[in-house]
Amino acid sequence: MPSDTKRRPILRTLGLVAALVGGSAQAQDPYARERAALLKEIEAMARDTGAETGRVIFSARVMGAMAKVPRHRFVPALYGQLAYANRPLPIGHGQTISQPYIVALMTELLDTKAGDAVLEIGTGSGYQAAILAELVHQVYSIEIIEPVGKNAAALLQQLGYKNIETRIGDGYNGWPEHAPFDAIIVTAAAARVPPALVAQLKPGGRMVIPVGGENEVQFLQVMVKQADGSISTQRSLPVRFVPLTRSN
Ligand code: SAH
Repeated sequence: MPSDTKRRPILRTLGLVAALVGGSAQAQDPYARERAALLKEIEAMARDTGAETGRVIFSARVMGAMAKVPRHRFVPALYGQLAYANRPLPIGHGQTISQPYIVALMTELLDTKAGDAVLEIGTGSGYQAAILAELVHQVYSIEIIEPVGKNAAALLQQLGYKNIETRIGDGYNGWPEHAPFDAIIVTAAAARVPPALVAQLKPGGRMVIPVGGENEVQFLQVMVKQADGSISTQRSLPVRFVPLTRSN
């Protein structure tokens, strides 16, 4: 058909444009393929651990944030090659950036909504804060080691996150000036759940926290504050986090 011969060059041009666009996206984001592979691995782990976590499939919101945040910017240059490996990595000062699957799981268990205000204890690299900032209205994050917190704050600013407020301090007492929160995430292990954090949860609010002393097995715990103020607690997976330290 005559129209066919006319269309073919157009199709060829479109194909070329698509290849160019794809090519430049790859050039701008050389980690795109590794990040996509990591997402598949997280999905597979979610299925494998679903019986214990209650979440066989992570929400599209959470996986969308995991797909968007450039984890390679949050790991030391030395570990750039491993940025999208599904494992925790050292970030200096004896601290670690959590395993991506654990970040996804904890975010999933928080059940955040777009309008939420979320408190994080343990800013670390800032990666978890960035994931949350993609999903909620406002993130507050506290880090006890000054250079670690300052480094994360500078990076988050560089990446353009305007809805994350950071502070250096002991997160054990929460952040009363901004309380109450829709959700609280603690990314260091506490021997006991800090009472101030429970107090700073809104009714209906959720807290995800690894609980366990130095020589105990830690378990991820999901706590929900009911409308009447009572707390329901569910135990999730065994985990390994650095300890929640105290400033005195
Ligand atoms: N969420 C981080 C990983 C955190 S590692 C990330 O996405 O990279 C745990 C962090 O908690 C460490 O940086 C540690 O210094 C910090 N931390 C430990 N005890 C704390 C406390 N009492 N208050 C605030 N931060 C604390």
